[in-house]
Amino acid sequence: MRDTVEAHSDSVQSDDTETEVTVADTQAEASPAAENGFASLGLRPELLKALDELGYEEPTPIQRETIPYLMAGKDLLGQAATGTGKTAAFALPALQLIDGRAANKAVALVLVPTRELAMQVSEAFFRYGKDLGAKCVPVYGGQPIFRQLQALDRGVHIVVGTPGRIIDHIGRGSLNLDGIKMVVLDEADEMLDMGFADDIESILEGIPHAHQTVLFSATMPPRINSIAKRYQTDPVRINVVRGDTKASAGKVRQSAYVVQRNHKPAALGRILDIESPGGALVFCRTRHEVDQLTETMNARGYRAEALHGGMDQAQRDRVMSRLRDGTAELLVATDVAARGLDVDTLTHVVNYDVPSAPESYVHRIGRVGRAGREGVAITLAEPREQRLLQNIERLTKQAITIVKVPSVADLRAAQLEQTVAAIRESMAADDLDDFYPVLNALSGEANPQRIALAAIRLYHEMAGNIVDEQDIPDISHRMERRPDGGGPVRAGGKPQRGGERGHASDKGGATGFVHISLGRNAGIRPGDLVGAIANETDLVGREIGPIKITEKFAIVGVPDRSVDKVIAALKQTTIKGKKPTVRRYTD
Ligand code: AMP
Repeated sequence: MRDTVEAHSDSVQSDDTETEVTVADTQAEASPAAENGFASLGLRPELLKALDELGYEEPTPIQRETIPYLMAGKDLLGQAATGTGKTAAFALPALQLIDGRAANKAVALVLVPTRELAMQVSEAFFRYGKDLGAKCVPVYGGQPIFRQLQALDRGVHIVVGTPGRIIDHIGRGSLNLDGIKMVVLDEADEMLDMGFADDIESILEGIPHAHQTVLFSATMPPRINSIAKRYQTDPVRINVVRGDTKASAGKVRQSAYVVQRNHKPAALGRILDIESPGGALVFCRTRHEVDQLTETMNARGYRAEALHGGMDQAQRDRVMSRLRDGTAELLVATDVAARGLDVDTLTHVVNYDVPSAPESYVHRIGRVGRAGREGVAITLAEPREQRLLQNIERLTKQAITIVKVPSVADLRAAQLEQTVAAIRESMAADDLDDFYPVLNALSGEANPQRIALAAIRLYHEMAGNIVDEQDIPDISHRMERRPDGGGPVRAGGKPQRGGERGHASDKGGATGFVHISLGRNAGIRPGDLVGAIANETDLVGREIGPIKITEKFAIVGVPDRSVDKVIAALKQTTIKGKKPTVRRYTD
């Protein structure tokens, strides 16, 4: 029998499983912000220190639910998308296993679908494990193998890698699995979609001794369950349940901007310049982000204040009164610090990241749109976070419109419009007569139109309109939906699976074709090609296709602009153990 975990009080038990745990954010009550919620999970002091230094104030729901089981050595099957904090959910218990000095054998092995994720996950291990002296080595295709051999040779506690490269290392004897206590399959559904099933099974079968097997996946197709059945023992299942279906986002205009992390500060500045909110609450994940963003927004001319768990009560009270009396127009806060906050002047809520649980989105945006007033909710999402957005849409049964980040021209147009509105308002006032002396003094020197233009420019500049020329790339096409609500979201519908690939041409732009000298005779299947390309380049599965495989060769469609990049990357790698010849294919 599987472990059953009690659901939280506000969860809705779905009828398809009896073992679900809701990961709803149930800590809506004010909690002492200074108390770090991680301490109660039993993590070692070095980890608690690292988390505190990173500015994490409390575990995310998935972390709160999974970490105790993982620390108790249980197998676990967790349903969690990117952005929920799932990496720390397995990384912290894995780091708990290491003995700082002995680094001759890895204790944990993490399998991930892509090179990008391998790097991200190993960076997370490094950040959390720095006070433990944790040695984490990422191994993935595309990087010269000798560098990885050297790194493994220097000592290793944790190996994070793509299945193909891990098999390579096991075959060479450079990766010894004798000391493995925990194996994690991260984004397991993606790995299966990319054709890694055989590789994963052969890795799991290569660890004969007892160990913990942990599986995280955004979706739970039957193939995942069958891996769980074969390779896990009595796993605890932690699922993100639909949650409270009564949750409502009220009368709030909701939109999401797709933007790369490094462009977020500039994008937020530009969005707020255009929205010109009366009062805005901006949510960040960590204290550091809060401090940094407050500084950035102040530099852009906003009166921004920070609010986080590192501040004492007197500081917090001061900030709140500045927000209430309008001295501050932006409040940048963590969830913990903003709990229970209720301010009438707020018109906008901004999620600087997609919140880790759909329920916290609902809590957050509940701060605006109260008592029938209209509010605006803005979310900055990275392309990989679209699944989280879909979860939110399912919970609220409302669509979040994908919008393009305003261009420099959009910003200028909006600024001019604001100037028009301000001057219109001024013209409607009846105390203009006081300024006749100025007009009279100037009217002998220029015609009225020129005088008006000079006065408009003066106002426009003094109103603090920023000249913002920064290039912020539009990457909204990397969402599966078109920007500006290209087709309504199917509220309550099924999430769009990463595996439901379209063609390269579906994503806008022309398709180019790559000829690869391996075909059915070499055992090549579509998943192998998608896997190799997605692994070696920054293309995602749905940008790859159509695929044609003959006995001797394969032809794969990719965005035309990426053809050369794909060729260069595939020349450096092996597919099914064979080195292909790769070239551009034209009729
Ligand atoms: P993941 O879902 O693992 O990709 O994590 C998403 C983001 O959340 C990463 O940028 C993490 O650094 C951040 N994060 C994870 N856990 C926490 C936490 N408890 N508090 C604040 N940020 C977190």
